[in-house]
Amino acid sequence: MSHVSNKKIANLLFEIADLLELKGVQFKPRAYRRAAQNISTLSKDIKRFYEEKKLQDIEGVGESIAEKLEEIIETGDLEYLNDLRKDFPEGLQEMMNIQGLGPKSLMKFYEELGLDSVDHLEEAAKNGEIRKLEGFGKTSEKNILENLERYRKYKKRFILGEILPIAKNLEKQLSNHEDVKRVNLAGSIRRRKETIGDVDILAVSSNPKKIMDYFTNLPEIERVVSKGITKSTVIAQENLHIDLRVIEEESFGSALQYFTGSKEHNIELRTLASDKEWKLSEYGLIDMKTTKTIAGKEEKEIYNSLGLDYIVPELRENRGEIQAAKSGDLPDLIKKGDIVGDLHVHTNWSDGSQSIDEIVQTAQNMGYKYLAICDHAKSLQIADGLNDSEIKKQMSEISKLDKIYKSITVFSGIEANIDKKGKLDVRKNILKDLDIVIGSIHSGFKLSEKEMTNRIVNAMHNDYITLLGHPTGRLLNQRESYNLDLNKIFEIAEKLELVLELNAYPQRLDLNDINCFNSRDYNFLISINTDAHTKDGLKNMDLGVSTARRGWLDKGKVLNTKSLEDLKKHLNL
Ligand SMILES: [Zn+2]
Ligand SMILES: [Zn+2]
Repeated sequence: MSHVSNKKIANLLFEIADLLELKGVQFKPRAYRRAAQNISTLSKDIKRFYEEKKLQDIEGVGESIAEKLEEIIETGDLEYLNDLRKDFPEGLQEMMNIQGLGPKSLMKFYEELGLDSVDHLEEAAKNGEIRKLEGFGKTSEKNILENLERYRKYKKRFILGEILPIAKNLEKQLSNHEDVKRVNLAGSIRRRKETIGDVDILAVSSNPKKIMDYFTNLPEIERVVSKGITKSTVIAQENLHIDLRVIEEESFGSALQYFTGSKEHNIELRTLASDKEWKLSEYGLIDMKTTKTIAGKEEKEIYNSLGLDYIVPELRENRGEIQAAKSGDLPDLIKKGDIVGDLHVHTNWSDGSQSIDEIVQTAQNMGYKYLAICDHAKSLQIADGLNDSEIKKQMSEISKLDKIYKSITVFSGIEANIDKKGKLDVRKNILKDLDIVIGSIHSGFKLSEKEMTNRIVNAMHNDYITLLGHPTGRLLNQRESYNLDLNKIFEIAEKLELVLELNAYPQRLDLNDINCFNSRDYNFLISINTDAHTKDGLKNMDLGVSTARRGWLDKGKVLNTKSLEDLKKHLNL
């Protein structure tokens, strides 16, 4: 059997849908998209459905799609898709992502003008070739060019959690090289933005040529786009572009500052500089009158010279950080080391892959003082949710284990589902015995703002709920937040002293940075939880902490920075 991830399988089905659409086939593309969508959001490995011969239990998967899934899982390949691909050049599929261009127009461009790539399309629109086709005119060309520009701009955003390990690994390999004196990630990944366009790395070396040779030959690099002495661009997996720049040591700080951004933050800084008749650029902070360099080697010197406290990368979004740095009011941000435990993890009792024992062991090794096992409750059938008697059984298992572990406390919890009316799917006489009750929404996303807000507010009024899981429901690159009056939720959380979650699962990061920023106006606590489904997933706490930092949170706002004793006090345990 081959190792194909849910995401990869979903992408193959999406591709089939695109190709069928180009062929002019009706209805089928929608069926494939629906199945792909559902597979990409499955919380357990599709192989489990395959092994249990239950592929058709996945929503949108009928007999015909199930057969194709079997072939992909067994062989890693799909004959049907290979045949479809033969009919069209690759570029045509990419062109389908440009807004306003349907398959009919694309086929016309292809058949009559031979346009088989985004670049060729652009050329033809600029040269006035498209207006010669029946049914098209100057306006169509103008629209195509506008949409094409927008497409290029937003083409591909990567999820931080998927890219950060790759980028850190490259950074580490560079820093291990004997000729590399300094190296640092820059750009949005250094600011820990939730999605990333490309990766920037800066280095200092006395032998740039050797470093560029080394870098462009690393096994992770799939293709070299350009290679020079001071800058090389390469492509790593899944079309991720990475730029490496080798910088003079004297200007490493200013280059790092410049390439870290954000653009808006840098504009403000440059204004501050020019107020003093200085010039700030990637080469340094320079006095215009004397042409002397004021700062450049270290970032900190640049900020300090401009009369500012040092601003950490996560805050550089022009959300008031410059003013705060001027007046000495920057927040004392939460740090990774402040986290004492994790209050939302899954095990193989529902859709996680580890036993309770294994995940507790991992958490203990990370130095955590507490961990809450919160598997899914019964109405989430796709995740093997627990019914009331299974919850009881699990509770007794957990209390047995808790006695064995000396340095970590294991809490019994549940991730209950909030139904459309705001009720939880676990009976009260079970809920009252659990330590941690998370209420989450996993279905019925399409309600009006009023209905959705009421639904959540109702759930928050449940006597036993401890915290509201992934409050806005968004999934990066997949699903927007549901319609929701978040300020109202914040108000109620303050009133009821209920905890809201910052879910650190890579696709979620929910609450997001801006939600966290706004939450500071309300007096309630946030718990940063990984929602780990594997033991590796516990490491995603970093992503949650970065998001909290981007949202200006200090440790006082975060529940799971509390000691075990204080946590128990806060939750009346
Ligand atoms: Zn959940
Ligand atoms: Zn969960």
